[in-house]
Amino acid sequence: MRQPYIAGNWKMNLDRRSARELASGIREHLGARDDVQVGLFPPFVYLDEVVRAVSGSPVLVGGQNCCDEDEGAFTGEISTGMLADVGAQVALVGHSERRHVYGESDELVNRKVHAALARGLDVILCIGETIEQREAGETEATNARQLTAGIQGVAPGDLGRLTIAYEPVWAIGTGLTASPAQAGAVHAYVRGVFAGLTTDAAAEGIRILYGGSVKPDNVRELMAVPDIDGALVGGASLELETFIPIVDFGN
Ligand code: PEP
Repeated sequence: MRQPYIAGNWKMNLDRRSARELASGIREHLGARDDVQVGLFPPFVYLDEVVRAVSGSPVLVGGQNCCDEDEGAFTGEISTGMLADVGAQVALVGHSERRHVYGESDELVNRKVHAALARGLDVILCIGETIEQREAGETEATNARQLTAGIQGVAPGDLGRLTIAYEPVWAIGTGLTASPAQAGAVHAYVRGVFAGLTTDAAAEGIRILYGGSVKPDNVRELMAVPDIDGALVGGASLELETFIPIVDFGN
């Protein structure tokens, strides 16, 4: 049984105070609940604040990105060691905005996956097709390629520290959501690809989150799909009023 995982990607939003208040509100709401795993991905500069706000609770905190290098002359970058040093437990890697706005390649994404795992961070690896790829019939090939490249060389013992987020690029921040049938088909396909790359047991255990305009009014139908194990939430994760009903989808 895979524990549902709801992750909030705050992107480049909020300020110190609103980040702290949002994190504290989520912590208070959740208490010691373990029916759902919640992860928060604040901007780097507020990680410290958010780690302190949820300290001692089951809420995970992660970086929205990380550098593939450990240290050195990489102006503007944040290493996985720095993330771990401020108490982050997870790194989000390969988000579509990193791939498509900042041109990150599959190879770079794979190096980031390795850098995060080597520092003891868990990883959410994001994959997903653009609308052009979907319309060209390349949805499966695109997701298979990003997944295969993304986990290349990951040791069998580290597979349990991976989570996959399937995020169709055309559904991120657009208000367009993949239908449960569309998302479910890709999730099942991705799990099958993962099984082929690893083992059936690893594929049975890995969580595959859906991301793309998840809101309180569509989360239940998405979470009812057997291969959807959680959600990576952008816009609706920025306020308690919208994030809490998503976290509470099962109640
Ligand atoms: C995201 O940031 O990964 C995302 C899915 O954003 P939104 O929920 O706003 O579409």
